[in-house]
Amino acid sequence: MYDTIVPPGFRSNPFCFFRVPDEKKGKTGREKKEEHAESGDKNENAIRCKNCGFRICGPEQRMDRDGHHMHVFNNPAGYVFEIGCFSSAPGCAVRGEPTMEFTWFPGFAWRFALCANCFAHLGWLYLSGSGRSFYGLILANIAEDIR
Ligand SMILES: [Zn+2]
Repeated sequence: MYDTIVPPGFRSNPFCFFRVPDEKKGKTGREKKEEHAESGDKNENAIRCKNCGFRICGPEQRMDRDGHHMHVFNNPAGYVFEIGCFSSAPGCAVRGEPTMEFTWFPGFAWRFALCANCFAHLGWLYLSGSGRSFYGLILANIAEDIR
C-alpha cells in the first residue's frame, strides 16, 4: 500500500520542500578572536593612532564591557561606530565636559578622546558617577602593531 501523499510540485522541484534555514547566514554575533597578549611579550605591541602612528595604549589595556570588547553603536546622525573598550589610553587627550547626552553606556558620561599627537578623534572616555572610567575607541581609527 502506498498512501504517501506527494505534495503538488514535489516531482518538478523536490528541493523546494527542504528549505535551508536562513540562520546559517545570519549574524551569530560578531565575535572576533581576541588574543590577550598577557604573557611577557618582548615586542612592544601597541594600539596606535591610525592617522599618525602615535602610541595610544598597549593591547593589554583591552577590556570587556558587558561581556564584549567590541560594541557597535549608531550616533544620532546615523553613523555607525565600531568601538573597542580599553581600561586606559595614555596616548589620548581628553576634551570637553562630561555629558550623559546620547551616551551609549548607561550610567556613564562621555568626553571626547583625541590622539594627543595629531588630535584625530579616536573615541570617547566614559566616566561613571562612582569614579569608574574606560575608553571606547573607534576601531577604524586605531591600528594594532602585529608582530
Ligand atoms: Zn594621531
